[in-house]
Amino acid sequence: MGGALYLEPQLGPRLGSLLESSGLVHSLTDALGSPLGVVLPDQITENVDRFRAVLRKHHLAGQTFFAHKANRSSALLRRLAATGAGVDVASLGELQHALSCGAAPALIMATGPKEPEFLWLAARTGVTVSLDSPAELDQLAALVRTQGLPRVRVLLRLSGFESSGVKVLTRRSRFGSPVRELDAALKTVERYGDAVELTGVAYHLDTTSLAEKAVALEGCLMALEECRARGLAPRAVDIGGGFGVNYLANRTQWEQYTTELANAVLGCRPPLTWGGHGYGLREEGGTLRGTLGLYPAYRPVAGERYLDDLLSRPAMAFGGRKLATLLLEHLYDLYAEPGRALLDQCGLTLAKVIETRDVGAGPLWVRLAATAGDIGLEEHGVLMDPVLLRRGPGTADSSGPVAVHLFGSLCLESDLITRRIVFLPHRPAPGDLMAFVNTAAYCMDFHATHAQRQPVARKVAAWQDGDGEWRWCLDEQYWPITPPGGSQ
Ligand SMILES: *Cc1c(COP(=O)(O)O)cnc(C)c1O
Repeated sequence: MGGALYLEPQLGPRLGSLLESSGLVHSLTDALGSPLGVVLPDQITENVDRFRAVLRKHHLAGQTFFAHKANRSSALLRRLAATGAGVDVASLGELQHALSCGAAPALIMATGPKEPEFLWLAARTGVTVSLDSPAELDQLAALVRTQGLPRVRVLLRLSGFESSGVKVLTRRSRFGSPVRELDAALKTVERYGDAVELTGVAYHLDTTSLAEKAVALEGCLMALEECRARGLAPRAVDIGGGFGVNYLANRTQWEQYTTELANAVLGCRPPLTWGGHGYGLREEGGTLRGTLGLYPAYRPVAGERYLDDLLSRPAMAFGGRKLATLLLEHLYDLYAEPGRALLDQCGLTLAKVIETRDVGAGPLWVRLAATAGDIGLEEHGVLMDPVLLRRGPGTADSSGPVAVHLFGSLCLESDLITRRIVFLPHRPAPGDLMAFVNTAAYCMDFHATHAQRQPVARKVAAWQDGDGEWRWCLDEQYWPITPPGGSQ
């Protein structure tokens, strides 16, 4: 078939090795069902080390807090706790989970909107609270005073930063206190001095723009100066998450795909999606309108490299000196809360092919034993091909590349695993597996439901023993302890 457009995933050594263990992944799904989530706890350790190396490179002290909301796995959290990294929790359930997985309260940061129970448990156990609003500070202080709780360490989450020089638009956020109301916020902090201790300021921006983040970081440095001028002594800057992941192996494939998608929307080539879906693009009177609502799946500067670039940027309000230099001079601690980036290469989702159906000249219809919510990539705008794992040797055929529509198992027209046509190197057959790699962040279990009483995917943790052999256990059975056989 000519004109196949691939979006091959970036495969690190661990995920690559697991996919080569085809017997193992087939027997796992035979035993535990499809879909199945597989997480790789050893990878999160490596990812934490990479963030730490960037801090070392810039001679900065600080801490990395994993944003728990990106995955519910216990294995990943326990492994993370063993590295001494922190956890960012955004609900009562996440806080309880983090505590039960061995995270030390001093290394837990409570973010997001908080109900009283969440605030109480955070205050009771000595977790740091990143204040979402002035009202939350009132609520926390009242709780500490009436319940006789220990003084709580708090960060002031700020938003609405403005650049000093060239205009950089910063996104509106519904979280945090506007930086222009800092004075009032600090007065409140001072008034509640018996109940809270201000240890730093924070921001979290849901953007890929380094310029926007640099403006926010500068804004935080200015806010810290103001705190110190008033006699407060905060010393941490929490720069939130959003460091990103590079999902694709190949820049050319990504550029070619997005170009062809635009051509398809314009009607200049055969459709690339189900029902003419345009991923945000549309045609109006022969021209292209709208914006591509996709994750930038090919992203060479992501994860710890993105952090490195941010720290290396000049601070315009501080005479163009490097942000890292300014942090170092004041001996500020740098906190980061990566979710997606710490889960890069940490897992995959397996789904079994149930049925293939030829429908005339169009793409082959392929139905998987999974729902769109189980795979999640589409929901998050990540376009990336699955890896086809044949059932057994001898089934390899010479049919060559094939275009397919991937449908889910719900009795629902909208249950499309991908809205786009996927090109596979071979025709799949029932019993084959599709491995959707790098799904650990947000895709694996964020949207899983019990719709139609279908079971949600089980999750296993997998690791290689000293001989490189793959071992596994159920996610909840994993503890980062070397068992007697030394296999972990
Ligand atoms: C979601 C979230 C994060 C993590 O964001 P990523 O894009 O996954 O890195 C960090 N901090 C806060 C406050 C968040 O809400």
